[in-house]
Amino acid sequence: MTITRTAIVTGAARGIGAAVAKRLASDGMAVAVIDLDESACKPVVAEIEAAGGKAIAVGADVTDESAVEYAVTRIAEELGAPTVLVNNAGVIRDNLLFRMTTDDWDTVMNVHLRGAFLMARTAQKHMTEAKFGRIVNLSSTSALGNRGQANYSAAKAGLQGFTKTLALELGKFGVTANAIAPGFIETEMTAATAERMGVTFEDFKAGAAKQIPVARTGRPDDIAHAVSFFASAEAGFVSGQVLYVSGGPAA
Ligand code: NAP
Repeated sequence: MTITRTAIVTGAARGIGAAVAKRLASDGMAVAVIDLDESACKPVVAEIEAAGGKAIAVGADVTDESAVEYAVTRIAEELGAPTVLVNNAGVIRDNLLFRMTTDDWDTVMNVHLRGAFLMARTAQKHMTEAKFGRIVNLSSTSALGNRGQANYSAAKAGLQGFTKTLALELGKFGVTANAIAPGFIETEMTAATAERMGVTFEDFKAGAAKQIPVARTGRPDDIAHAVSFFASAEAGFVSGQVLYVSGGPAA
C-alpha cells in the first residue's frame, strides 16, 4: 500500500470516527486517530496497522486550543503534513428547552463548533502550504430541527454555515470543505439515547427503521464511504456541499 496523505479524524476511538479512520487508512492515508483518551484510540490504530496501514493514537480535547495546536504539530512531525481533516468529535446533552442547562448548551457548542473551528484553523496552514486540502465536517439531520436538541441542532446547523464559508475562503488554495449530515447511525451515541428513553436499542432501531425509506438504520461504514468520497483527490470540484446520508431525502 502506498501511503500518500495524512488525515486527521477527531472523536475516532469509536463509532463513526473509528469507521472513518479505518476507511481512510484503507484508502492509503496515514491516519491520526484523535480522541479525548489516547489509550482508547489504540485498538483502532492496531486494527489499521494489522491491515497494513499507518496510524497513530493522539489524545486531545478538541475544545482546548493549546492541545489542538500540540496535537497537529505532533501529527505533522510523526506522519507528515495533515491535508485531510474530518471533524467528527461530538457529544449530545439532550433536553427540552425549559430543562436545558447553560452547561448543556455550552458543552455541545464547544465540542462541535469551537472544536471544528480550532482543528480547521490549525490544520489549514498545512493544507494551504501544500495547495491541497480536504475538510469534512459531521453535521446531522438534526440541523433541520429536532425536539429535545436545541443545542445540538443549532451546532449542527452552524457547522453547515462554517463548512460553506471554509469552502469560499480556502478554495483558491486547493482546499475543499464539505459536510455530511447523517440520519440514524448505530453507535454508542444512539444507544445512549435509547437508554435515556427507557427502550432497548433493538426496539429503538426497529422503530427508527420504520420511518426510513430504505427500511434500515445506518451504520458507521455508510458515513465512512461518504467521507472517503469527499476526501478523495478526485473530488476537488465538489465544495461547500451538505450531503444527507440518512436512507432517504433529508431527514
Ligand atoms: P460517539 O459514538 O459518541 O463517538 C463520539 C466520539 O467523540 C467519542 O469517542 C468521544 O469520546 C469523542 N469526543 C467527545 N468529545 C470530544 C472532545 N472534546 N475531543 C475529542 N473527542 C471527543 O458518536 P458517533 O455516533 O460516532 O458520532 C460521531 C459524529 O457524528 C458526531 O459529531 C455526531 O454528532 C455525528 N452524528 C451522529 C449520528 C448518529 O446517529 N450516531 C447522527 C448524526 C450525526 P469519549 O468517548 O471519550 O466521550
